Parts: sequence; structure tokens; C-alpha cells
Amino acid sequence: MISFDFLYFRPKSVHEALQIYQDLSHEGLQAVFYNGGTEIISRARAGEVQPDAVIDMKGIADCQGYRDEAEWITIGAAVTLSNITDEINCFPLMQRIAKEIATRNARNKISIAGNVLSSLNYREALLPFLLTDSVAVVAGPAGIKEENTAALFANGSRLEPGKLLVQFKTEKERAGANYFFKKKTKQSAVNYPIATLCAMKREGKITAGFSGICTFPFKDAKIDRILNDHALTISARAEEAIAHLPEKMVNDFHASAGYRHFVLEQLLIEMLEHFEEVS
Ligand SMILES: Cc1cc2nc3c(=O)[nH]c(=O)nc-3n(C[C@H](O)[C@H](O)[C@H](O)COP(=O)(O)OP(=O)(O)OC[C@H]3O[C@@H](n4cnc5c(N)ncnc54)[C@H](O)[C@@H]3O)c2cc1C
Repeated sequence: MISFDFLYFRPKSVHEALQIYQDLSHEGLQAVFYNGGTEIISRARAGEVQPDAVIDMKGIADCQGYRDEAEWITIGAAVTLSNITDEINCFPLMQRIAKEIATRNARNKISIAGNVLSSLNYREALLPFLLTDSVAVVAGPAGIKEENTAALFANGSRLEPGKLLVQFKTEKERAGANYFFKKKTKQSAVNYPIATLCAMKREGKITAGFSGICTFPFKDAKIDRILNDHALTISARAEEAIAHLPEKMVNDFHASAGYRHFVLEQLLIEMLEHFEEVS
């Protein structure tokens, strides 16, 4: 049960959603954008958040659905992980990652935007957009802008308050690239990752994305250079990549930093061997 009252809005357009947010802010009320609600509801029940209002994005056409055009695919921010696993066949890495987040029931609610902007460390649905250099469409008081996903979400950044994520646009050719994906959890398959490693190989070059290792999901140009350095052995590349993580490894009740190091090293070796075999 949520133990406080809040206002509920269901705008029909991005413009209306932003206007509602601004009007509430002027009245001194704190609003949150709401998609699947799985996180907002569980945090509200736990007393971690107490918004005055929620602005539900599910009535906004631009945030819904999936468009497959000549060279681009566009995925609305309110699209659920189940929509992805069921429908978006031209983005196999995205489908694979979505399939391993939560249960089918939870995936029927969890949205792309809610996962990418989750307050938790994992945000695994961001990884395919990072690896494909997708474009994030973001609306804010200054209008609608297209931004590079990697730059927008660098080092764990989220959106500034009052901005909303509308869609992601991905080049179809990149979405379809050969991929590697492995997620290691503490016990059951349905759990947050100790380490998730995914990678794509395009034009002979590997690019890798990580979740569960640090306090945010990331890809890193330095690490990609190391992974593609054929002057080093596969084991040396794995060890060197780990030495260049953007921050020290997470050490928590899911796994110690030492265990994460061990798991990640194995995953990196497996990934590098996979791409040597298929190339
Ligand atoms: C059983 C279970 C297991 C899970 N396992 C994993 C896992 O292994 N890996 C993983 O990555 N995730 C996992 N998750 C998902 C994660 O923890 C969040 O619950 C989920 O991603 C939130 O999505 P939502 O659509 O329900 O977001 P909401 O609760 O609606 O919103 C989450 C946040 O995003 C913001 N937001 C939502 N939409 C927008 C928008 N369009 N613009 C701006 N801000 C917005 C909200 O204001 C809020 O701050 C799991 C969840 C469950 C329930």
C-alpha cells in the first residue's frame, strides 16, 4: 500500500506532459514521470520517495510503439520489455537483454525509459543503445533534442529533473550486428547481475558494455581499444580491460569485488574467444 495521496495525470502529448510538470513545479509540487511504475511504487511503499504527482507517459503516442523504417528503428520510451522480446526481432541483442531482466509479469510493465532511468545501478536496457551509438530523443523546457546516448548517460548520468525521455533511434545495420551476451547472478536466473557483459563486433572491431560491475552501466573507449589490441594475448586483454574500469568494482551483498573480478575476467575471455572463433 502507498501511504500518501498523490495527483495522477495522463497527458496525450509530450508538450502537455512538460507543461503539467512545469505548472506543478511553479506550485511547489514535486512530480515524477511514470511508466511501468514498478520502481516508483516499490520505492513509495518503502518510504524512499513521496512525489506529490505522477505524470503517466503511457498515453503519449510518441513514447509508444516501435517503428521500423528504411535505415532506422525507433523505440518509444514507454515500450515494455515484453513488447521488445515479442516484437523487435531486428534488434537481437536488445531482445536478449530484455528477456533476462525480471519475470515475464514484471516485463509486461517495465518500460525502456523506466529501466534506463532507474535509480538502481543496473539499467541493463541501456547497454544495447550504448553499443549501437543510438540517438536518445529527449524533451525539456528548451524543446525536443536528439542526443548521443553514450554522452547523455556517461558515468551514470540520468536526465535533469523536468526532462523526459521520448524515444531511442538506432541504425538498423548496427542493431543487427553479431553479439555476445552473458549475465551472471548470485543465485536464480531472475536477479540483478553480479556482472553482465555484452559486446558487438562491427567492421572487425569489438565494442563492449558492462552492468553490475560498477555503480552504473557503461561502455568505455579505452577498454574497447584494449579488447581490440591483438598484440596482447586474450588473458592479458581481459586483465588489462579490468585494470581500466571507470571506477572500482562494486562490493556488496550480491558479491564481493574480488568475486566480481573473477567472474568478469572469465566473461571477457569467453567473449574474446567467441569473436575469434566466429571471425
Ligand atoms: C522482479 C524484478 C527484477 C528486476 N531485475 C532487473 C535486472 O536484473 N536488471 C535490470 O536492469 N533491471 C531489473 N529490474 C528493473 C528495475 O529494477 C526497475 O524496476 C525498472 O527498470 C523500472 O521500470 P518502470 O518502467 O517500472 O519505471 P518507473 O517505476 O515508471 O520509473 C522508474 C524511474 O524512471 C523515471 N522515468 C520513467 N519514465 C520516464 C521518462 N519517459 N522520462 C523521464 N523519466 C522517466 C521515473 O520518474 C522513475 O524515476 C527488475 C525489476 C523487478 C520488478
